[in-house]
Amino acid sequence: MARMPSLFVSHGAPTLILQDGPAHRFLAGYGAALGKPAAILVASAHWESDALRVSTAPQPETIHDFYGFPKALYEMTYPAPGAPAVAARAAAMLRDAGLGGGEDPNRGFDHGAWVPIKLMYPAADIPVAQISIQTGLGPAHQLAVGRALAPLRDEGVLIVGSGSTTHNLAEFRGQPAETPAPDWVAAFAEWAHAALSEGRLDDLLAYRSKAPHAVRNHPTEEHFLPLFTALGAGGPKARAERIHASTTFGILAMDAYAFT
Ligand code: ZN
Repeated sequence: MARMPSLFVSHGAPTLILQDGPAHRFLAGYGAALGKPAAILVASAHWESDALRVSTAPQPETIHDFYGFPKALYEMTYPAPGAPAVAARAAAMLRDAGLGGGEDPNRGFDHGAWVPIKLMYPAADIPVAQISIQTGLGPAHQLAVGRALAPLRDEGVLIVGSGSTTHNLAEFRGQPAETPAPDWVAAFAEWAHAALSEGRLDDLLAYRSKAPHAVRNHPTEEHFLPLFTALGAGGPKARAERIHASTTFGILAMDAYAFT
């Protein structure tokens, strides 16, 4: 099985899967461009837990963890099989690295996982497992989690961090999807692109004090932290490539990165 990159994807609003737009089209085309992995391991902003956990359900349910969206979204499922064997190995690797790593046999797919993965691989024939994020432990912890999992890439496992390059929903005031990014959003996204391209790891880990408008773009950290899981899974000398850049509703930078 070919070595896979690790990815960071911005999943936007749950309606990403229903509504056409640049990020929708990117994800819908990227799975075929990348090819089929042996399994997919997703660190989603929508599974936070105090202790690190890996989902081992053989047939995970689709969780509709959002409110007030169109009915079509609640009827949508992603019936991909779980990846209990890969998940159990991932959990063991995380425990060996001293990061914890409990197994959760009941966890289903939250929308941070199923929305982008369904767009990439609509046939739902690739096993998928999730790993939780520990928001309170910050970027360095998520980087370590990614690093511990990096060897799985050699076995064809696609490691995906799913969050958002910028994410301040309090700044959503009903503006249309096509709204251009205000300066404070664009400046943060461009800073992240430059820091990733130049391999400025120390700056990235300290992004809350180094990046322009970091706290305004991420009042809480959970949507940016999956970037560090993906970056870590790229290995110590990870090369970052921005594989998509757009914004939606002005406030959500939908940038995606591949790490090799
Ligand atoms: Zn989200």
